[in-house]
Amino acid sequence: MAYDQDNIFAKILRGEIPCNKVYEDAYALAFHDINPQAPVHVLVIPKGEYVSFIDFSAKAPADMITGFMRAVGETAKILELESPGYRILANIGQDGGMEVPHLHIHIFGGRRLGPMLAR
Ligand code: 5GP
Repeated sequence: MAYDQDNIFAKILRGEIPCNKVYEDAYALAFHDINPQAPVHVLVIPKGEYVSFIDFSAKAPADMITGFMRAVGETAKILELESPGYRILANIGQDGGMEVPHLHIHIFGGRRLGPMLAR
């Protein structure tokens, strides 16, 4: 799938749309979800044109893959979720329910999160 440079997260990365930032480094940006599904709901996105996990894992340079993974961990740490626990999730494509076609990891926390999948 071709990358759509006008997707909302591309606009956030370019600073055209504001976000409530949690963490940023050379590889990733983390910000609060505009429509939170849990008391803590943060998105972590790579700073590159990646749509899916297959796309990212196949095409991203090694330092980007490492940096992005570290940014997800660093964000969970900043949110103080290590001890109470949390969930990370990525929706990919149509069956995954992906709404924004720029790879993103959701971080959920702040309450018992229940079953892994909605029925
Ligand atoms: P997806 O369904 O693609 O995995 O998740 C996309 C997420 O992006 C949704 O949870 C949605 O609430 C969030 N979102 C969509 N537009 C915006 C926006 O403009 N700002 C922020 N912070 N989150 C957004």
